[in-house]
Amino acid sequence: MIGSNVSTVGGIDKGFIQAKEWGLECIQIYITPSRTWTVPKRDAKSIHNFLQAWQESGGVAVVGHVPFLVNLGSPNPVLFHKSVDRLVCEINSAEELRIRNIIMHPGACGGRPIEQALDQVIVGLNEAISRTKCSSTNILLETMAGQGRTLGATFEQFAYITEHIEDGERIGVCCDTCHLYASGYDIRGRTGFSKVMHEIGNVLGMTKIKAFHLNDSKHPLGSHKDKHCTIGKGFLGIEVFQAIVQSEALSVLPMVIENPDRDCGSYNDVTLLKELRESRDRVKDPEPTERTSLQTELLLDDACRFRRRLPRS
Ligand SMILES: [Zn+2]
Repeated sequence: MIGSNVSTVGGIDKGFIQAKEWGLECIQIYITPSRTWTVPKRDAKSIHNFLQAWQESGGVAVVGHVPFLVNLGSPNPVLFHKSVDRLVCEINSAEELRIRNIIMHPGACGGRPIEQALDQVIVGLNEAISRTKCSSTNILLETMAGQGRTLGATFEQFAYITEHIEDGERIGVCCDTCHLYASGYDIRGRTGFSKVMHEIGNVLGMTKIKAFHLNDSKHPLGSHKDKHCTIGKGFLGIEVFQAIVQSEALSVLPMVIENPDRDCGSYNDVTLLKELRESRDRVKDPEPTERTSLQTELLLDDACRFRRRLPRS
């Protein structure tokens, strides 16, 4: 299911209008205000409008994104407890809107050892899950680029978390292609992607993957920099994206574009991914080691071949 991060300015249900206009099969939204700790109570009318717009959307999948404020790995106990409370609030808000999956960054550990912070993440997740026992909303932890002291840059860390959660059923993983690559997993090309998927399968189990974020990376392999860019304009090439969108096994999962250019860039990415999915031609990136500036140009041409422009409205 190919889709995009969409804005909810003007109402939580507004994302469905964009889904219709752009032909999105899934959308990702912030369920609560993304930059503040205060969460106003949602009124019954806005819940009704959301559920009605969803029903009329004809099967668009919806995932929520937990605000970046939430940090279960924080060495600051006040921030940690605030983060647990907010996560509980996110789960309850998702439940109200019948959203089954919310995506969350595992957190950052500050100056202390990663293992200690991971243990605290586990405590926080266990608490949030036990305080929302009646909910069936899953928390999908997102793979991270490993910038600064961020947690979640290796599959082993996710395996450690999922093994120690009391109700592991409600924990899944969202694979962000830009972050995987920036953290050092070389997913380029069909071969690279399938190798990395094998690795995640061995360490974590493929069934834990519940969503994808499809983003190109502005920085090279292992750079540990979290900078998304338009697909085909970064270091990933487009072969990997075709491998993902043409995979039958993954086709049921939400695949969300998080392009920093939320208009033209996102629309072009959606169009490109759909064309790659439908195309009978297998795209092939130049070998990374042989990639010259001319080949990079050709690669970009190839990506552009699949693009249409955003229609003027
Ligand atoms: Zn992401």
